[in-house]
Amino acid sequence: MAKLYFRYGAMNSGKSTSLLQAAYNYEERGQHVLLAKPAIDTKGASQIDSRLGMTREVDFLIGAEDDARALFAERNEGRDIACLLIDEAQFLTAEQVDDLFRIAVEDGIPVIAYGIRNDFLTHAFPGSARLLAIAHSLEELKTICRCGRKAVFNGRVVGGRFVFDGDQVAIDEGADGSAAPELTTYESLCGRCYLEESGGRLG
Ligand SMILES: [Zn+2]
Repeated sequence: MAKLYFRYGAMNSGKSTSLLQAAYNYEERGQHVLLAKPAIDTKGASQIDSRLGMTREVDFLIGAEDDARALFAERNEGRDIACLLIDEAQFLTAEQVDDLFRIAVEDGIPVIAYGIRNDFLTHAFPGSARLLAIAHSLEELKTICRCGRKAVFNGRVVGGRFVFDGDQVAIDEGADGSAAPELTTYESLCGRCYLEESGGRLG
């Protein structure tokens, strides 16, 4: 039986690199894959960008209201797709994760979803919560904190300082030309360093 896989990790744990490598491995064997990601992630528009510099266009974007299984079925029509690979899966809705589960179980196509487990306030993203609940296989992609421990959280840094208030999604904050946008970045942190930065606050 085909399975739904969730490969999760903190920011900078190499998820996109791992996804592109998985696509390459299939294609090296002469098999076809489809790549997709939620449309909410505007930072790379319709591309998957790995930190190592590899870039690839997705085959389709999944909008917030879209039926992911129907989108997949359109593109799978008449082709022999061996695997569906999803980047930034944390931004999927719970219903779309259920669609992925059906693609695996009922349509017989393995689905490998890559994503971040929790947001900058340590809460699960909707897509990740559902994936953690129903994926057949969970695999953690590890990265290390500045102190050398395993990073499990994603601290949000605005203007060079950690912040612990704001919306869950802050991609391209200020990109609409609003006054004095400050660059939002993230740093992967272990539990101890997160608590030190947050003053002991979790969520
Ligand atoms: Zn640390």
